[in-house]
Amino acid sequence: MRSLQRVMRWWVMIGVAALVSCLFHPDITSSGPLWQGTLEPDVQVGGMAERQTWLLEFPQYWSTQGRCEVRGTSSTLLVQYGDRLTGTMPWIWDGEHTRASFDGELENGRISLELVPPNQQGFEISYQGRKAGVNEFSGQAKAGGICRRRSGEFRLTQLPSPRKPVKMPAVALLQKPFEQEFLMTNYFDHDTPRQFVDANGYVVNWQGDRLSVGSPGAGIDGHAGYDWGTPEGTPLLAVADGVVKFAGEGDEFFCPPLDQMTTGLYVYLEHETETGDRYETEYIHLSRIDVRSGERVTAGQVIGLSGNTGCSTGPHLHFGVRRFVGRSEKILVDPYGWSREGVDPWSRDAEGMESVWLWKPGQAPVLHEYGRQS
Ligand SMILES: [Zn+2]
Repeated sequence: MRSLQRVMRWWVMIGVAALVSCLFHPDITSSGPLWQGTLEPDVQVGGMAERQTWLLEFPQYWSTQGRCEVRGTSSTLLVQYGDRLTGTMPWIWDGEHTRASFDGELENGRISLELVPPNQQGFEISYQGRKAGVNEFSGQAKAGGICRRRSGEFRLTQLPSPRKPVKMPAVALLQKPFEQEFLMTNYFDHDTPRQFVDANGYVVNWQGDRLSVGSPGAGIDGHAGYDWGTPEGTPLLAVADGVVKFAGEGDEFFCPPLDQMTTGLYVYLEHETETGDRYETEYIHLSRIDVRSGERVTAGQVIGLSGNTGCSTGPHLHFGVRRFVGRSEKILVDPYGWSREGVDPWSRDAEGMESVWLWKPGQAPVLHEYGRQS
């Protein structure tokens, strides 16, 4: 009887709004294992790092009480090293945020991929397909477990990595804050990055596009950094050599989206360029911190795990950058710079300044807005 109840209470949901793909089962508690792998080095082919990013759009399976439906499409990003494709995406198991992994191969015009949830009880999806265009694959997704009778089409499209526009000033300081790539949920707002204060109704991104609040990439007016939909437990990496200025729980403040006082786990790092300029990077909403104030860190070192602490409505990383203009005064900047002709609107603000491109070659995280139609 007990096991029958369990079967009757299956809830499976993939690719739900607000970033998450979810799997609920009220009877089983498992947050899944946290990070167990090692960080893969770039595969070097002829001196070039062969690393590509792909957008996977796949059927959203939805199942409750033994019935399964396919409802719309969900997306995630995958990274290719050599022939291997990997990725992780947010996943909820019995109310616990965790993550599911993709693993597959891209070879001879064919793709073979599997989604393995953190708790492999009766649910997995395989994707088999072929080349459908220059930078595109398509095929059939097949689910196991209770969704096994449903299948649907998936599409895999190669995404360009952001590159520094030729004329933009640059300082090659930062590398990726995580190993994989994730859908981006909020840009840095060049028209006053004052979160919860700015209320002009739009976000101006580094390319000078004016996005009305609520459209993809513009969830928060005045957003003061970048948000990526990193699932709970994603290892976060020091973007450059530096010193930990703060690691721990921040002061309490009022969080409008949650309508309550909140605090969270943060890490602030300070870095110095070869020419003596200083920058501070901030990592917000962590679930675990692995460094201490005052400690030296090296680029690529794991400083903690991403999470959903503080003023946050779903697991993600908020990443922000400030440039020092005096001994202790510092000003928010956009690490992607400003690529539109004309003056960066943020530099006209009394408290603002011109941004420069801060990424090392090939190290800028991909910017593909969550919810964007490809
Ligand atoms: Zn944010």
